[in-house]
Amino acid sequence: MQFFPAALQNLADQFARLPGVGSKTAQRLAFHVLSLPDGEAEEFANAILEAKKQVHTCPVCQNLTDGELCPVCASDSRDKTTICVVSEPRDVLSIERSREYHGVYHVLHGALSPMNRVGPDDLRIRNAYQEARKRGMEVQMVLSTQEMPHPNTARIRAEGANGLRIDMVGVSLGGAVIEVRQLNGMDVAFRCEYPTLLVFHQDQPGVIRQVTEVLENAQANIAFMRVFRNAKRKDACMIIETDDPIPPESIRAIQNLKPVIREVCTL
Ligand SMILES: [Zn+2]
Repeated sequence: MQFFPAALQNLADQFARLPGVGSKTAQRLAFHVLSLPDGEAEEFANAILEAKKQVHTCPVCQNLTDGELCPVCASDSRDKTTICVVSEPRDVLSIERSREYHGVYHVLHGALSPMNRVGPDDLRIRNAYQEARKRGMEVQMVLSTQEMPHPNTARIRAEGANGLRIDMVGVSLGGAVIEVRQLNGMDVAFRCEYPTLLVFHQDQPGVIRQVTEVLENAQANIAFMRVFRNAKRKDACMIIETDDPIPPESIRAIQNLKPVIREVCTL
C-alpha cells in the first residue's frame, strides 16, 4: 500500500538522492516544500533549473562560473604564474575566504581514489599540465613510493634566490588550515596563521633571547613561538609567528647574529 501520493513520494525520492540526506529527512523536506506558498515553491524549482542552465565550468581553470571566465581568471590583479591545484570548487571558496592567496586555480573535480576506481585519466589533470605550459611554468612531478601518514599531504621543495633550500611537508586540514609537519627533515608543527619567521640556528643558550630582542626592538608582537630540534646542542629551528610582517631590517639583524644563526626565512 502506498502511504503517500505518487508525486509526494517522487519529491521525497529526489531529496533522498542528495548527499547526506536519509529517507526520513527526505520526507520532511518534501512535506516542507508542499507547505510552501505556490510562489515560493516555484522559486525553489526555478533556482534548480536556472543553476543547471547558467552555471558551467570556466574553460581555463575548470571552476564553476556563470560568465565566460570565472572571476579569478578574468581578474587582472591575480598572479597568473601561480596555480593552486584543488580537488573541488568548494576548495576554491575556502581558500578565497582566507584572502591570503593571489594566484589562480585549477580544479580537478575529484581526487584520485583507486578504491573507487578514480584514476588520473578520470580527472582534469591533463588540462593542468597544458595550462601550466601555456603560462610558461615548468612542472616536474616526481614519483614517490613514500607513504604519507595523511591523505592531504604535500611535500614542497623550494630554493630561494640566495640558495637557501627548504624541504617542507604540509598537511591540509580543511577550512584553508595547513599544518607544516616537517621542515628540512625535522619534525615540527605550525600553521602559518600569521606572518611566519623561520630561524635555523645552533641549539645553544641565549639564542632565543638574541632573536626575541631584535623583534622587541621592532615592536613585533609574537603570536606563536616554538623551538624544534633534532638533538640537544645541534640543529634547531625557531618558528615565530607575529601579528604583523617583520620589517626587512629586523630580518637582516637576525641574519647577522651569525654564527649561531644559520638561515632565516619568512613564509
Ligand atoms: Zn577560471
